[in-house]
Amino acid sequence: GVPRVVVVGGGAGGATAARYIAKGSQGAVSVTLIEPTRRYYTCFFSNLYLGGLREMDSLGHDYGTLAAEYGINVVHDWAVGVDRDTRTVSLASGASIPYDKLILSPGIDFKEGAVPGWDVTAQSAMPHAYKGGTQAQLLKAQVMAMPEGGTFAIVTPPNPYRCPPGPYERVSMVAHTLSEVNPSAKILIVDPKEGYSKQALFEEGWQAHYGGMIERIGPDFGGTNVSVNPAEMTIDIDGQVESVDVCNVIPAQQAGHIVHAAGLTDGDWAPVNAVDLSSKTDPDVHILGDSAAQGDMPKSGFAANSQAKVCANAVLGALTDARVFPARFSNTCWSLIAPEDGVKVGATYEATEEKIASIDSFISQPGEDAETRAQTYQESLGWYAAITTDMFG
Ligand code: FAD
Repeated sequence: GVPRVVVVGGGAGGATAARYIAKGSQGAVSVTLIEPTRRYYTCFFSNLYLGGLREMDSLGHDYGTLAAEYGINVVHDWAVGVDRDTRTVSLASGASIPYDKLILSPGIDFKEGAVPGWDVTAQSAMPHAYKGGTQAQLLKAQVMAMPEGGTFAIVTPPNPYRCPPGPYERVSMVAHTLSEVNPSAKILIVDPKEGYSKQALFEEGWQAHYGGMIERIGPDFGGTNVSVNPAEMTIDIDGQVESVDVCNVIPAQQAGHIVHAAGLTDGDWAPVNAVDLSSKTDPDVHILGDSAAQGDMPKSGFAANSQAKVCANAVLGALTDARVFPARFSNTCWSLIAPEDGVKVGATYEATEEKIASIDSFISQPGEDAETRAQTYQESLGWYAAITTDMFG
């Protein structure tokens, strides 16, 4: 019969892989996409929503085109188990779906106990806003409700985590909103890391745009020794307890639960072969995006999309007589520091025996002129439109 590909997770990695396989095979491969939500809200640009520069609705994408134009069997359900011996995926509804090749791209889950006092039952009091949709809306509502001169605290995660510059872009965009609606408010960053992505660029920008608003407590001053009390709205930093008005807790992360359940992880992430993103444990299962141990690539939507295209090409090559091209990857992470003040970091990569290895890289420079920064922001708008079309058609 027709070979069957099942994709779990309709996000940056999964939606792209499903679309490329369906498009490339012209019906010669059947593609099933399993995704619980009917509308996917991108995490990318959710910080711009916090900054008042983007409507939440503009971040939502649905699966109608993938079903109608590409013939993908879109199943809105949770995958709850993978039986790699019988090659079936079981769903929360009780159904079981057979595959010849399985692609897992479920994103991240949080590590339990990473920030003492916080668990998912506390996410209404102290949102993470690190998965798409309602959490970002909640965080925005909390920012808008802050008392005059109040404190917004953000607990940032240890490496590796999705979107290395994400927490710092968030600080920038919250600072932008506060500078308009609540200029005497303060932002407190509690950070377990010595340094972070694009640090010099963020610090320069914060000084220029939001002087005096933002304070960062790194590991030398207790950034690694943090607990929270969601009922009291307090944060304990190395024994010093502070009351805060908003507390955005972004816990340490690991591969999505289904990847662990499938027995494909080594520690927190799933080891993969760089050439086709196949699992090092099972050649018929591929892991894309945040859940994979991605070598030199950061965990980003751009990276997941780039890996998905390499994976789709390899899967088509294995199941049909499609030609397989050498694996090449690229990534750029844009961040917005203030309206029209965009910066970026990026690289290109190749597949080696060992990993996805960086070939060359680039980064915005401190002190760039306003025109360059505005152009960088424009580039990011083009990228958002292009990647979401590449994902959802
Ligand atoms: P996701 O895109 O999260 O997709 C996973 C999907 O799997 C979800 O839809 C989920 O519902 C589904 N799923 C999970 N478990 C199951 C299951 N058991 N069964 C079925 N479905 C399941 N990246 C960039 O490139 N640029 C940016 O500017 C950028 N900004 C960001 C800002 C923020 C605040 C955040 C949080 C992230 C940002 N990212 C950015 C990172 C980007 O969102 C992720 O790296 C990317 O979405 C990862 O793609 P993925 O396919 O691994 O996971």
